[in-house]
Amino acid sequence: MFPKIKRKKTKVVKVGSVLIGGENPIRVQSMTNTDTRDVKATLEQIYKLHYAGCEIIRVTIPDEKAVSALKEITKKSPMPVIADLHFVTSLGEKAVKAGIAGIRINPGTFKNLKNLDRLIEVCKDYGVCIRIGINAGSLETKILKKYKTPTPSAMVESAINWVNYIVEKFDYQNIKVSLKSSNWWDTVKAYELFSKKSDFPLHIGVTEAGGLIPGTIKNTMAITYLLLKGIGDTLRVSLTADPVEEVYVAYEILRNLGLRTLHPDIIACPMCGRCEIDLMKLYREVENWAKNVKANLRLAVMGCIVNGPGEAKHADLGITGGKGVGIIFREGKIIKKVPEDQLLNEFFKEIETFLKEHPERLINL
Ligand code: SF4
Repeated sequence: MFPKIKRKKTKVVKVGSVLIGGENPIRVQSMTNTDTRDVKATLEQIYKLHYAGCEIIRVTIPDEKAVSALKEITKKSPMPVIADLHFVTSLGEKAVKAGIAGIRINPGTFKNLKNLDRLIEVCKDYGVCIRIGINAGSLETKILKKYKTPTPSAMVESAINWVNYIVEKFDYQNIKVSLKSSNWWDTVKAYELFSKKSDFPLHIGVTEAGGLIPGTIKNTMAITYLLLKGIGDTLRVSLTADPVEEVYVAYEILRNLGLRTLHPDIIACPMCGRCEIDLMKLYREVENWAKNVKANLRLAVMGCIVNGPGEAKHADLGITGGKGVGIIFREGKIIKKVPEDQLLNEFFKEIETFLKEHPERLINL
């Protein structure tokens, strides 16, 4: 059972070949942390992220060299590339011409409106999606003067002003919006408020969320809260960690809400005194294996023969063992006993057999 979620019907926008908003799946994106000027390292990371399930990738463009590298990166990337632009609009114009599918700007940080106008014109000419990325830490002065602090209302006013500016002055609607703050509650309040006032699609997530554990918790709280309310069309789980982890966490959140599945779900017992097998090692190995599999499967890794198969009978397949014997079970019934050192190999073979019998469980992104 999953919660019933009624997604808000936002406008559909296009980042290259990927549609965002409306009834399209909630898209998972991430950002490279390589030096964009290093084409090889950046493409390597992009491919790893793509393989993990990332659908849109953002890269930073700090200078001309990074923009020059973009040509090859956009050509060889297996997914649409978004450029992250700060301060220098001319870099953005060149990035558009280098083949990016989207650009992330924080309009309040651009002092020269004429330059910004030119960038928007170029984006429109090339059909590049513009993300208006409002950040609580860099709101424009006139909004800050009005609100004193970067409250959710201040962030939303800034976002709405910029959306209207682009729509009215340029008649351009390929826009999505993010409203980020490192405080997860301010973040969700800003998104909720924006969602009441506008139909433009939202890129959700908490910025500067921290490392794997605290960052996952903060992001999960905010993203889950919003998705349960039907808000959010694409997401990035920002973590101070390998960006591949961002993608795994994103799918974990989406799966647990019944919104999207990509990798197998693994259930495991917390272990107790009955456990007679190296469960943590087994779990880690199954988890690493499952990251390379795209299928709607539930696997179980349990600590003892007495209770494991029964406790995990809702899993498609599972393993347990003890005293040198490994047990494989399917839908709660023991199907194989093998020496413990052959348990994983045999388990993976059984999963292959299961997937051959149930090809509908395989997922193509
Ligand atoms: S499956 Fe066995 S080892 Fe794991 S928690 Fe249950 S009783 Fe304990």
